[in-house]
Amino acid sequence: MPDDMLRAHINGVRHALAAGWRVLERGGPSVDAVEEAVVIMEDDETFDAGRGSFLNRDGKVQLDALIMDGATLRAGGVGCVERLRNPVRAARKILSESPHVYFVGEGAERFAAEHGVALCRNEDLIIPREVERLRAYQTQSSSGGDDLFAPAISHDTVGAVALDRDGNIAAATSTGGTLNKAPGRLGDSSLIGCGCYANNESAAASTTGWGEPIMKLVLAKWTADRIAAGNLPEWAAQESMNYLKERVNGHGGIIVLDKHGHFGIAHNTPRMAWALKTKNKEEAGIERQS
Ligand code: ASP
Repeated sequence: MPDDMLRAHINGVRHALAAGWRVLERGGPSVDAVEEAVVIMEDDETFDAGRGSFLNRDGKVQLDALIMDGATLRAGGVGCVERLRNPVRAARKILSESPHVYFVGEGAERFAAEHGVALCRNEDLIIPREVERLRAYQTQSSSGGDDLFAPAISHDTVGAVALDRDGNIAAATSTGGTLNKAPGRLGDSSLIGCGCYANNESAAASTTGWGEPIMKLVLAKWTADRIAAGNLPEWAAQESMNYLKERVNGHGGIIVLDKHGHFGIAHNTPRMAWALKTKNKEEAGIERQS
């Protein structure tokens, strides 16, 4: 995250926090709160979600998102969608109005349209900053030998976790994936237990970072399991980042919350923007603490 983007990131997560909090304050469910928070960040071009996302190898935006309700374990996910401004809205419709959990590509777009989520053109999701970023990346990588397993440029996925008055937790994650990804590549973000997970019996978690290593460790569920075993989210979040680094040389970040309101925020990258609010305090940050 370059220095000149810090303010935009902090503002973005603060706005998302306010939107989620408004839902909780009026007694709304945590699943609504995470949806509203993620919508704000999908609409914000600062982040790799919705409009302004990284472009794939073909110069298109392809989006993945998941939302999960920790009370019922209902979940909705979309993968590789190209015509949705807010994929988390479609994911939410799947959670609430479908017996299925996951839709991809055109089928996901059709489901969304049939359930009242407007479609857009792919061009509506593309911004000049990302056209230039892809061009620079492709020019530079065509001049050097490609390392197939080099870390992907992956950052700015968005996510939210929330606890409501009824004691239920939820999580949502939304992303444009990694820069120059192959068309049809699906990341961790929309996969249950990888980039997102929620279960009242353990924790709600959302991750960001290089998706392939995160997927291999089923990292959100791995972290939630540590909490179900009696550890605090703060410890589990840090431990998951250590595990990610040590086991598969991955990089990323995680936010985790349990139904008692204990939370953890950790990343093994230099920066990750986060914001949190409880009845007693509100905070936001960007730099690694340790
Ligand atoms: N995890 C996402 C992916 O690999 C990218 C990110 O978190 O920024 O698709």
